[in-house]
Amino acid sequence: MNGSGNVLLRVEDLKVHFPVTEGVLMRRRVGSVKAVDGVSFELRRGETFGLVGESGCGKSTTALAILRMLEPTAGRIVFDGEDISRIDQRGLRPLRRRMQMVFQDPFGSLNPRMRVREIVGEPLKVHGVAGSRRRFRERVAELLDLVGLLPAMADRYPHQFSGGQRQRIGIARALALEPDLLLCDEAVSALDVSIQAQVLNLLMDLQQQLGLTYLFIAHDLSVVRHISDRIGVMYLGRIVEVAERDELFEQPRHPYTEALLASVPTPDPVVEAARAHHLIAGEVPSVRNPPSGCRFHPRCPKVLGHCNRAEPLLEAVGPAQVACHLYADSPPAVAGTGQAGDLAL
Ligand code: SF4
Repeated sequence: MNGSGNVLLRVEDLKVHFPVTEGVLMRRRVGSVKAVDGVSFELRRGETFGLVGESGCGKSTTALAILRMLEPTAGRIVFDGEDISRIDQRGLRPLRRRMQMVFQDPFGSLNPRMRVREIVGEPLKVHGVAGSRRRFRERVAELLDLVGLLPAMADRYPHQFSGGQRQRIGIARALALEPDLLLCDEAVSALDVSIQAQVLNLLMDLQQQLGLTYLFIAHDLSVVRHISDRIGVMYLGRIVEVAERDELFEQPRHPYTEALLASVPTPDPVVEAARAHHLIAGEVPSVRNPPSGCRFHPRCPKVLGHCNRAEPLLEAVGPAQVACHLYADSPPAVAGTGQAGDLAL
């Protein structure tokens, strides 16, 4: 969809660690949860970059750190050429207009006591760009029309809408300040499958119409496949593979990516029976105490002898980027074993 290489957002070696404390006053630091631990990727203008992985792998934390709703522990976030990883709240204010979030839960993220007009128009007031009463009402009507809702619906309350309509209201609100970047965090996960497709198609239409760039976070691979141009796969706070959408689905390279794809159910019972033999081993380890070396090594069916000691870096492998010793120039041929269990998507 976009081949310009024109970068809107660059995330470099981003880390978000949370202290773990103990003691009566919880002041004694005894460790840290490394929710995001060295994540790098870039978003080209006008593209959709999908971020996938199991629950708790750090996808949402990454998005919140980009928005500076969580403070990065280390690393750089460069938005439109400006390093925003350390600027203060005042400096962030104009940037917040350009980066907006669409949340998973359209029910929880809309104030039930506010009319849709106030919900959609609230960012205009917060940023002091609401204009006259008439202009405010016109702008809200434009935004509702943009997301396929009737402007007359502005007087209703959230409970008078279906789930899909409520998510459209959330999208209208996110678009109020004409952002460049939308961070969609599980934005369709709470919706029925048929409604999911409608909202995904709306997001794709809006992208074309408004030139938006999306960071699209989801655990559902079929959803990510539908909307993404490129995809990053996260595991335990790190990105293990980045590739163009079709490349990733047709030729997954990292063993974890292979496992994720193998875990997608199919309607064919014969295929499904064969697929069960390819499910991956073990529980997701704790981010508080991640495995040494490659974090995937306790579950990896292709683990090598040194995988538990050396951490693989994300490096170019063909047209993809992969963090796996299998692709090193001279990997040692020492095989290990995993444990039994299923992926918990
Ligand atoms: Fe498996 Fe080793 Fe590759 Fe990790 S580095 S994914 S353990 S082969």
